[in-house]
Amino acid sequence: MTNTAYEATNSGETPVIAVWFSCGAASAVAAKLTLEKYGKTHTVRVLNNPVAEEDDDNQRFLKDVEQWLGVKIETVINPMFPSCSTVDVWEHQRYMSGIAGAPCTKALKKLARKYWEQGNRSDSIVLGFTSEESHRVENFRKNERHDLIPVLVDAGLTKSDCFNILLNAGITLPRIYHLGYPNANCIGCVKATSPTYWNHVRKVHPDVFTQRAEQSRKFGVRLVRHKGVRMFLDELPEDAVGRPMKNMDFECGIFCAPSSEKDEAEASNDQFTLSSGEVHAMDNGLETLVRYATKRIVELESLLLVDVHETVWPAEVGMVYSQVESAGVLPAHHQRRLKHHINRMWLEKMPVPSIITAARSLAIAMEKYA
Ligand code: SF4
Repeated sequence: MTNTAYEATNSGETPVIAVWFSCGAASAVAAKLTLEKYGKTHTVRVLNNPVAEEDDDNQRFLKDVEQWLGVKIETVINPMFPSCSTVDVWEHQRYMSGIAGAPCTKALKKLARKYWEQGNRSDSIVLGFTSEESHRVENFRKNERHDLIPVLVDAGLTKSDCFNILLNAGITLPRIYHLGYPNANCIGCVKATSPTYWNHVRKVHPDVFTQRAEQSRKFGVRLVRHKGVRMFLDELPEDAVGRPMKNMDFECGIFCAPSSEKDEAEASNDQFTLSSGEVHAMDNGLETLVRYATKRIVELESLLLVDVHETVWPAEVGMVYSQVESAGVLPAHHQRRLKHHINRMWLEKMPVPSIITAARSLAIAMEKYA
């Protein structure tokens, strides 16, 4: 497993390593190791995405870790959701979790990270993957960033090693672990499908259970799986149990891990289908991205003024282009540019409905430049 960080450039600028601290034990130790290993040769920035639904004690833990590390832990949020609340994200998306993942992870963590990366240098990235999670390292490198440094995996540290390191350093673990939860993420995490987990939430945080049950009922989302059947939380028998909590490895982070490999496999096989409301909600999520992408393209439009020559476009471009009603009234040079952008989005593997939406917005914007 490669473990070298990006090295100093010819320009002499100090490379930056971004460590994403999740208020969990593993990422705290990952930050410590990174500072010890690279602190003299790199700028190490430790970053956290706060989430309102996490236990309050997470912030106490963050302050303790900050002192231990001797560096400030910076807050990174998605400006679209200044409340940092998963409940707000679900309400906005009208969707909570399913085979497409959880929109809260994407909105509050993944997109927050991407937003930060657009304005900040980040040559390498460190996450709290422990040695039990080495398979996630390769997934992340393949799907997100190749420059991940797996400091914990390279050091052979497990999750329980990380607990011990913190305890030896005199740091009290986040209260949430003592309350029997498997990680320090949100209370009532919608990535969990286990009856054991949800009945634990019902017992320890009954108010959260009720809130999740009501909101998921409203959006038609069956969050729990009992005896192979997806069901609403308010349908879950109070004595239902599944796998033990300690065997659950669903994690939420900027890497959008599946709830577990098993759950993911089950999800792809089960009879669970998206309701029209869920599809609509997913479209809303994409719409946000599309709006952002469109805004960026429009901004760049005036700078780049791409000169696109007449060419033969792939059939897919023509198919999308034919869906853009106002394209026909554009001058020829804008029509070529519109096809160029459609082709680019296609190559970037954006979903077709999103390309159509973006292309329509671009066509409207282009009318103003005509
Ligand atoms: S921990 Fe669960 S509920 Fe919280 S943001 Fe992550 S996926 Fe969503």
